[in-house]
Amino acid sequence: MAAQIHQFLCLSDNFGVLLHDLATGRTASIDAPEAGPILVALEERGWELTDILVTHHHFDHVQGIGALKTRFPVARVVGPAKEAAKIGGLDEELHEGDLVRVGDLQGRVIEVPGHTLGHIAFYFESEALLFAGDTLFSLGCGRPFEAPARVLYESVMKLAALPGATQLYCGHEYTAANARFALGVDGHNEDLIARAADVERLVAAGQFTLPSTLAAERATNPFLRAANPALKASLGLPDDTEATEVFAVLRERKNRG
Ligand code: ZN
Ligand code: FE
Repeated sequence: MAAQIHQFLCLSDNFGVLLHDLATGRTASIDAPEAGPILVALEERGWELTDILVTHHHFDHVQGIGALKTRFPVARVVGPAKEAAKIGGLDEELHEGDLVRVGDLQGRVIEVPGHTLGHIAFYFESEALLFAGDTLFSLGCGRPFEAPARVLYESVMKLAALPGATQLYCGHEYTAANARFALGVDGHNEDLIARAADVERLVAAGQFTLPSTLAAERATNPFLRAANPALKASLGLPDDTEATEVFAVLRERKNRG
């Protein structure tokens, strides 16, 4: 693969992710949750930061930008046009379908409103990589802070429709808690039971649960299975309940839980 990825923790449960293009040496940080660990990660690999790809305006995704720019003044910061005012300092404002280059690697911008209104994801098709920020998590999804749940549902389904082999990278390591919730609402799902056991093993071994794949998420993530009859039944909802409504019920329960 022409792309190398380095994933590490920032703050308490944010992921730092570096995407490195072997051919040109260019390196992007996906979001900037915390400058310190990102600078250490760059140092470890001997990579120079050239790009920062911002998914949304929340503080735990942008607060490191200033310090990263101080150390790497040439780094180009790109992010959602719709949140440019909130983020500040974007060198390029991105919309649905825009292409983002990291050296020879080419990503496409997918607008995924819900968690925030302008939230975007970055999809590198030829590398089969998806950076979903706080929209889709492994076995879960973000909270719909700035839009109704149905808007977020459309966004997560848009991501889930990408090829199953796509590697999913997310903004947070929330999988263990998500697995407990998922088992509570979809406990007869054999794929989920197996994935939850894997997650437990990974966490016990001190390893990350990400990346996941979209195929695995489609089979196990309850928020992508809102149209599934067994899931509706276990939530006590009639079989003709719209998937959007099922999703909203799931989201409500998760918020309370
Ligand atoms: Zn967020
Ligand atoms: Fe976040």
